Amino acid sequence: MKVLKRKVKYPRIELKKGYPVLILPENSEKSEEIIEKYKKWIEKKLRFINELKVKYKNRKIYKRDEKEFCKLIRKFINEFEKKLQVEVKGIKLRQMKTKWGSCNKKGEITFNTMLKFLPPSLIKYVVFHEMVHLIVKKHNKDFWFYVKKEFKNPEKYEEKLLGYWFLIQSKPSLFYEFSKEKGVERFYPPLSLQD
Ligand SMILES: [Zn+2]
Repeated sequence: MKVLKRKVKYPRIELKKGYPVLILPENSEKSEEIIEKYKKWIEKKLRFINELKVKYKNRKIYKRDEKEFCKLIRKFINEFEKKLQVEVKGIKLRQMKTKWGSCNKKGEITFNTMLKFLPPSLIKYVVFHEMVHLIVKKHNKDFWFYVKKEFKNPEKYEEKLLGYWFLIQSKPSLFYEFSKEKGVERFYPPLSLQD
């Protein structure tokens, strides 16, 4: 397994391109010792990932053009603006390598263009997730309280998103139609040693 040292508080595993990279705090002990220490945990995660890859291998990849995709996103945003009493100030689409969406202080939401290949229910979930961030920034108790009001089993959706992530990663041709824009740092949803 590839091991990198970075400014992180706790060891974590990232799956940038579908293969695991162990990220260790810069001042941590020798990586072999850490790997040994977390071996069971890592194996469990890797097993879970492999199961997901198999499970989602043949799922439907939706064919939508950008216009259709935007329309869908706007529809969900309209619905949730009323429900959550928030206002989305802007929408951006970008090809991102590590997450499905992000939200900034100005109230603008960026969606990963790869979302357009996903089932409507998952797009809806991501839109809602990002819009809850307009109220609660972090993934804390309050955050999940809002999410659970709309989606009773967010874990299911998170799992599906991860499964679809691997499915899309396994089809590089899907990436070609987009521009060369570079993605950002974090895998969505992050798999950390703390969970
Ligand atoms: Zn989030």
